[in-house]
Amino acid sequence: MLVPHDSLRGLARRALCVALAASLAIHPVAAQLPELGDASQSVLSPAKERSIGETAMREIRQYEPSYIDDAEVEYFLNRLGRRLVQATDAKPEDFLFFALRDPTINAFAMPGGFIGVHSGLVLASQSESELAGVLAHEIGHVQQHHIARMLDKQSGASATMLAAFLLAILAAGRGPSGSAMAQATLAGTQAALIQNQLSYSQDFEREADRIGFQTLSASGFDVRGMANFFDRLGKAMRSSERSETAYLRTHPLSVERMADMQGRAQGAVPGVVADSNEYVLIRAKLDAEAGLPKDALARIQARQAPRRQDQAAKLYALARAYTRDNRATEAQKALADLRAMRFESPLVDSMLADMLLRQGKAAEAEQVCGQAFARYSDARFLLLCQVQALTESGKPERAAQLARDALVDTPNDERLWILQAKAYAAQGKVVEQQRAMAELYVVRGNLIAAVEQLQLAQRGGGGDFYTQSAVDSRLRELRNRLREERREGRPNGLQ
Ligand SMILES: [Zn+2]
Repeated sequence: MLVPHDSLRGLARRALCVALAASLAIHPVAAQLPELGDASQSVLSPAKERSIGETAMREIRQYEPSYIDDAEVEYFLNRLGRRLVQATDAKPEDFLFFALRDPTINAFAMPGGFIGVHSGLVLASQSESELAGVLAHEIGHVQQHHIARMLDKQSGASATMLAAFLLAILAAGRGPSGSAMAQATLAGTQAALIQNQLSYSQDFEREADRIGFQTLSASGFDVRGMANFFDRLGKAMRSSERSETAYLRTHPLSVERMADMQGRAQGAVPGVVADSNEYVLIRAKLDAEAGLPKDALARIQARQAPRRQDQAAKLYALARAYTRDNRATEAQKALADLRAMRFESPLVDSMLADMLLRQGKAAEAEQVCGQAFARYSDARFLLLCQVQALTESGKPERAAQLARDALVDTPNDERLWILQAKAYAAQGKVVEQQRAMAELYVVRGNLIAAVEQLQLAQRGGGGDFYTQSAVDSRLRELRNRLREERREGRPNGLQ
């Protein structure tokens, strides 16, 4: 791995803990529930909301293995989420959906359109419409600025402090599994108070339900999905399976809410909505990754697969679980059976490429990803695969070129900056590698580390005149930004 995470993480975490302590000291957490008002009443500007969400997101990304750093999972969630957002008056590009590895059934929205989904929620959903129903509800919270309106009480605080506060709230809401997050910094009673503060009011919940239902219906999903799912959650809560009810701690479910949802669903014309192939495969992937490899394998082998999609999902999950268990031959056999079914999905192509890479057949993998990307141009993980395969098959110049072209339009793609840095490293182009790393740190909001990389590039003196001038001017730019941020009181160059 090219990135020296650890020292940075420590730094970020310390900064956040300080901010958190300050936030709690200045604003003692009185567990007062927010009143429902006009959505435009929020005093937080859209820019501040975005800034809070981005800061919290940067922290969350560092909580591996909790944060699922997986381009395929991200692709699926964002395709589903953006299809829903498209049915509203919001802009799809203002939302980002991400996954956390956590067996509890939960989803949460942060200011600025960042929506987190626990793997437990995806696994517990019994259809794509059910999952869509929960996402539509969260989108409703974002659209109505519910979280921002709850954070409003801290409106004197900086975005960094609010982000820290938000993370503490989320950690408390996540129960024992949240302990890896900011919860550790809180005394038990404070955590409990914060947790109370997080719970949306029943009015907010009803508003998110109503908007969510419209979104679900307008985007062509089965509108019964929402009521069915909440009905199951409610039953799980009554049978006191604590792990199943994390969602209900933050989104209180009332008899009225349930009746409203069922009423709305009954009034609608039921339609059969097929699950996408990507939904069943991503569910299978998360399933294969849960628990110990041997347990996952046994669980998947025992599964019934009555329908064609179930059979495909089972083979896909088996291939993943065998791979985890280092049984390459069995994994390849499962994939061959899946491909024989002609079950079309970019995820199947990606799995084939992954196995070819594992066998050292990088040139073949590059062919597979390149052809698949031409067909599924929104499946960005295929582009990442192509860049990686080009580097590994001895064509790092083409890999770097491909990454450079793609980064023009998507300069925030962390994975692509990493792959570009690797492509330059493979060519021995140290300065270019350091420039790519610097841009990676900029995307991560760590200007200090970005400046350090460029200083190394400057001192090393490699590269031609043009490269060095580019390093000089970027360095000046970032130093200015860092100075500005320090003036504004943002610590450590973290925004
Ligand atoms: Zn809610």
